[in-house]
Amino acid sequence: MKDMHDLIVVGGGPGGASAAERAASLGLRVLLFEKEAFPRYKPCGGAVSKQALSCLGGSIPRDLIENEIYGVRIKYKEKTVEAMENERLAILVDRGAFDHYVLERARKAGAEVRHERIRDFVEEEGRVRVISQGGQEYTGIFAVIAEGAHGKLKYKVRDREARDKNGMCLVTEIGMEDGERPKVPANMLEIQFGVTRMGYGWIFPHKRHYSVGMGGLASKISKPRTAFANFLQANNFPPETPFKGHAIPFGWHKKKPLGKRVLLCGDAGGFVDTFFGEGIAYALRSGQIAAECIAGALTKPALDLTPYIKACRSEFSVNLKYSYILSRMIDRYPHLLFSLFVSQDKYVKAFLEIPKGKSNYKKVFFNILKDSTLSLPLIALKERRSPGQAASRP
Ligand SMILES: Cc1cc2nc3c(=O)[nH]c(=O)nc-3n(C[C@H](O)[C@H](O)[C@H](O)COP(=O)(O)OP(=O)(O)OC[C@H]3O[C@@H](n4cnc5c(N)ncnc54)[C@H](O)[C@@H]3O)c2cc1C
Repeated sequence: MKDMHDLIVVGGGPGGASAAERAASLGLRVLLFEKEAFPRYKPCGGAVSKQALSCLGGSIPRDLIENEIYGVRIKYKEKTVEAMENERLAILVDRGAFDHYVLERARKAGAEVRHERIRDFVEEEGRVRVISQGGQEYTGIFAVIAEGAHGKLKYKVRDREARDKNGMCLVTEIGMEDGERPKVPANMLEIQFGVTRMGYGWIFPHKRHYSVGMGGLASKISKPRTAFANFLQANNFPPETPFKGHAIPFGWHKKKPLGKRVLLCGDAGGFVDTFFGEGIAYALRSGQIAAECIAGALTKPALDLTPYIKACRSEFSVNLKYSYILSRMIDRYPHLLFSLFVSQDKYVKAFLEIPKGKSNYKKVFFNILKDSTLSLPLIALKERRSPGQAASRP
């Protein structure tokens, strides 16, 4: 069929663009729809981890890099711990420019990119029919839905998130020349735990501004405006600074991110690390895996997209599940576990191996527990003596 595409991608963020790039470079006929004109604004901290960069071949053009990150400063209540590494952990980027670059890579690989909003899709025998806002119909043998955390197309494939899987982020950008500001070392990310339930507040030093934000369990951020103003004020930023809110999925869904001919990638699939809030790496990688599975499926007579689930599971979704479980445990025993994690910089360093792609939550958590068999009871005892602290969840 002349107008039949091998793959139609909905969404031109990192998930959709990487699926389109990989599929086009494997020789597939790809049509990608993105509703916004690029570069567009995307609420984000702008931290692109080492493992995310490795999905793009390990480096990106120098002019996209606003800062290079070698360490983190973690705060929990009165305690601060800093960990520096010799190797670069992440870079900070402007998300508009970064996403534009990733989408251009897809275009250069041969994907056709159209700026139209997709209203619906229908899975049929042998094809997927995709319908644009204007009523135009397009057909593909397969489709990837990478519409991000917002949008409803993904719910034709999987259930809506349960209340305890809905995250929310509030973010703003504050110019560095603006009055009083905390002194975040130039090559460190500052993360403040205890600010929200199942999340944290952040101050990321970009080139000319700080990305200041907080994220956590949406149902527990009942007054976002007040909560964010308090966070800004506590960090000597003007409390009335305007901000943006955006949903963030808490990784790991029981329902498979898979229809008959449709795959969900990135935030649409729920692929975000609940503990760190990292999603760019998993969007990029799930897009690539989806493209490879679709290319494989096109060569086989029987329709089978389950290799996508298997590959995501073996590469990252088990890890995302443990990041969710760990976040739930911390939410249950915040003082005990945060006090433990910030008690030694080697524990913080162990966590940093995860966004580097060198370790996983299960390993890090159980190693810390094993290592702290002596100190954990002491921290627990301290918590029992000062129950006010343990109970004071945000
Ligand atoms: C405030 C905040 C801060 C964050 N900070 C970080 C961070 O520092 N580092 C990190 O790794 N992760 C971070 N994340 C998570 C990260 O932003 C996401 O995981 C990532 O953007 C997911 O990529 P995606 O391609 O799945 O979705 P998106 O980046 O959301 O892209 C989806 C695209 O689809 C388009 N679209 C939607 N619906 C349609 C439609 N119907 N038709 C056509 N196009 C459509 C949208 O316009 C959009 O361009 C943050 C998230 C938030 C909310």
